[in-house]
Amino acid sequence: MATEVREDRQAIQASVRELAQARIAPRAAEIDQTAEFPWDVVEMFRQQDIFAIAFAPEYGGLSGSALTLAMAVEEIAKACATSALLLAVQGLGGYPILLGGSEEQKREFLPELASGRKLAAYALSEPDAGSDPASMSTRARRDADDYVLDGVKTWITNGSVADLIVVFAVTDPDQGTKGISAFLVDGDSEGLQRNRIHGKLGIRGSDTAELVFTGCRVPASRRLGADGDGFKIAMGVLDRSRPQIAAQALGIAAGALDQAVQYAQQRRQFGRPIAEFQGIQFMLADMATQVEAARCLTHEACRAVDARDPQMTLLAAMAKLTASDAAMKVTTDAVQVLGGSGYINEFPVERMMRDAKITQIYEGTNQIQRLVIAKRLMA
Ligand SMILES: Cc1cc2nc3c(=O)[nH]c(=O)nc-3n(C[C@H](O)[C@H](O)[C@H](O)COP(=O)(O)OP(=O)(O)OC[C@H]3O[C@@H](n4cnc5c(N)ncnc54)[C@H](O)[C@@H]3O)c2cc1C
Repeated sequence: MATEVREDRQAIQASVRELAQARIAPRAAEIDQTAEFPWDVVEMFRQQDIFAIAFAPEYGGLSGSALTLAMAVEEIAKACATSALLLAVQGLGGYPILLGGSEEQKREFLPELASGRKLAAYALSEPDAGSDPASMSTRARRDADDYVLDGVKTWITNGSVADLIVVFAVTDPDQGTKGISAFLVDGDSEGLQRNRIHGKLGIRGSDTAELVFTGCRVPASRRLGADGDGFKIAMGVLDRSRPQIAAQALGIAAGALDQAVQYAQQRRQFGRPIAEFQGIQFMLADMATQVEAARCLTHEACRAVDARDPQMTLLAAMAKLTASDAAMKVTTDAVQVLGGSGYINEFPVERMMRDAKITQIYEGTNQIQRLVIAKRLMA
């Protein structure tokens, strides 16, 4: 059984790698330069069942294993970080349904996400509630069979393209985090205005949006879990999704390392390939070691998620911290290995360096990951 699962996982990884190198890598520079949302990649993911990797077969998916998903995210991120985020965020939007949804909600919505017919988004952050989401102010007031949402969410990945948005809002301001609930909101709901945010440093093709709710009605049947379960769901989701951001970071780093090794063997100075200089070899050796260390911790966090091991909170924070810091360091060093060529967009490493930065910021900045780790140490 274990062998069978491993073989399936390796087969999925191999086919994603082939697709990413053949069809996504050639698009990556253009996606970055135009900053247009890559609908062609979404369509490719739909046709090739890539979104299905994030979901279990019982809900129309192919896997549902965090480790298999991370391997797929890494392979895509080696070629294009924006495209890798499409897959990771489909998982991010699905986790709240898996964790808090009724069986009926799971059967209604998860197959739509697994096929990619619907794109998902996860709306937790607000203009005044980023690292401290418990201080959110978006309100959901009960009105007969509906809830009425008012407030602003920001930085929401897929925000203006998603069909289904998981929105966290305060239902009882007197209850603190126990007064927050989660809702499944249709992207085209009346009372929801979506404004795409422009001018990002990296992951430029990814859709990032502000969501403005003004008297937006959501049926009570679209609440996930009980009233007040929202914050618990939101945090449970982050434990499961942070390893996927670690996988994205890992892929960016691994892609940059490949570029650096290749370039160092071709580029000649002082009458020989620069790869023969120990100064370059040591840099490449350090980069490869950081990539492998990030991969070990990312896979360990995924195994904890798959085993529902309570250590997942700690390992997910450690994996995201380690992999994103490695991505920033390795991509910066890759630019250095390429010299002047590393600094222009004819080569992909400058894009990879810009893309790497976001992995230290979203799903909790690395300062917040350190807080999570320290809290566990003191417990
Ligand atoms: C491109 C992009 C996509 C995103 N996608 C999503 C999404 O899909 N859904 C979603 O809900 N959110 C999303 N986010 C939001 C992201 O999670 C937040 O930006 C992040 O959590 C930080 O919040 P903030 O930007 O408000 O920064 P702030 O919280 O204002 O932090 C500013 C600085 O202060 C530091 N800081 C804050 N508190 C502490 C502390 N206690 N100790 C030490 N340092 C601290 C932070 O680490 C940071 O360096 C996205 C953001 C971006 C940029």
